[in-house]
Amino acid sequence: MVNSPKCINLRSPRELALMRKAGLAVWAAHQAAKAAVRPGITTAEIDAVIDEYFTRLHAVPLFKGVPGKVPFPAATCISVNDEVVHGIPGARRLKEGDVVSLDTGCKLNGWCGDSAYTHPVGIILPEVQRLLDVTRGVLDLAIELMAVKTRWSDVAREMGSFVRDHGFSVVENFVGHGIGREMHEEPQVPNFVSPQLRRSHDFKLEPGLVIAVEPMVNMGTKKTKTLADHWTQVTSDGRYSAHFEHTVAMTTEGPWVLTAPPQPGEEFDDAVLRDLLSRVSPARGSAFSAVGSEK
Ligand code: MG
Ligand code: MG
Repeated sequence: MVNSPKCINLRSPRELALMRKAGLAVWAAHQAAKAAVRPGITTAEIDAVIDEYFTRLHAVPLFKGVPGKVPFPAATCISVNDEVVHGIPGARRLKEGDVVSLDTGCKLNGWCGDSAYTHPVGIILPEVQRLLDVTRGVLDLAIELMAVKTRWSDVAREMGSFVRDHGFSVVENFVGHGIGREMHEEPQVPNFVSPQLRRSHDFKLEPGLVIAVEPMVNMGTKKTKTLADHWTQVTSDGRYSAHFEHTVAMTTEGPWVLTAPPQPGEEFDDAVLRDLLSRVSPARGSAFSAVGSEK
């Protein structure tokens, strides 16, 4: 079926410009968090950096309070090593060789942005770096393909092949999503092709569509399981996983990455970001714990 499933909201150029503001806020929060990532920091301290950025922008952290058996308690999902997604920030200290996935989103002036990166902590094994490169690579591939394909299934098929060709597996239990006024809207955006997608869940890549594209890639099995905290998803075999995500809009000129860095000539007030960076960056010699303990 070529037509779009259910009700997919298509956004006007004016609405996309507002979503770009939310996307820039998410990008900036990630820059501050990335600067804080190092051996010894706790995942709660990283979350506090992102939470402070959103708070100072008067943006609403989207993840906090998401319903579940227990409401999600933080602004950021922080998932380490074999944790795939939905890890809860806490007292865990990152150590050299870890990889840490930071996934966060905010609502600014009524519009949402959502993005994720997986960072190395210090020096990591080459095979783990390759996992990060392939996962980032398959997100970049998807965005490139959105410029030339007409249906999502054509993108998803190539995403699945790309990951398999590199010897890794695509997580199937979790997928991307439409995004706009709410973080999770129609359609579902899988990173692989399935009979169900082809039969009834495929959708057109048309101007005004906005989706969060978020491949999760595992070194071993694609299977995941839920930890006792009701949130954290881990790989069933304990091998590492990576996750990258951008919020991407379709326009008449092709895909527009709404969570990308500010472009030349684009308006972006970086005062709050610069202040946070000056406090979390080790190069400046300041104690990152000061950020964590303020919240
Ligand atoms: Mg996300
Ligand atoms: Mg998402």
